[in-house]
Amino acid sequence: MDATIDARLRRAGLKLSAPRRAVVEAMEHEDCCLDANEIFLRLRGAGQKTGLTSVYRVLDLLQSLGLAAKIDFGAGTYKYELMKGGHHHHVVCSDCGSVGVFDDPAIELAVQHAAEQTGFAIDSHRVELFGRCGACQGARAAGNGERP
Ligand SMILES: [Zn+2]
Ligand SMILES: [Zn+2]
Ligand SMILES: [Zn+2]
Repeated sequence: MDATIDARLRRAGLKLSAPRRAVVEAMEHEDCCLDANEIFLRLRGAGQKTGLTSVYRVLDLLQSLGLAAKIDFGAGTYKYELMKGGHHHHVVCSDCGSVGVFDDPAIELAVQHAAEQTGFAIDSHRVELFGRCGACQGARAAGNGERP
């Protein structure tokens, strides 16, 4: 359990209830983002009785406190990622929804430049690139570009 999440919930006057703890722990063991259903299935697999509605409620709470990022993957798909030390960017496959991560110092530099140009103090940024993963490119080539 990340002490800062516990501390920040307490500062917001909230307790780390069992569902909250379970959701945070499921997300902590992940390097990248998860959608609500994936978190729900993980909790169920671990014998937790937290319902999907509770998972959504906890995710909304974490997001509103700035403890989690809600990432819009298009087509009504959202995934959630804890805001912890590491920072990375995403590539998203528009065909199968798989997510990859990458990091590039040039992007971080571009953000600094943007801050200088605009006079904004930039708190955070996200980069999501959309396209097709290697497997889906292969599937398209094999099917002459026709989708099943
Ligand atoms: Zn990620
Ligand atoms: Zn794909
Ligand atoms: Zn970045």
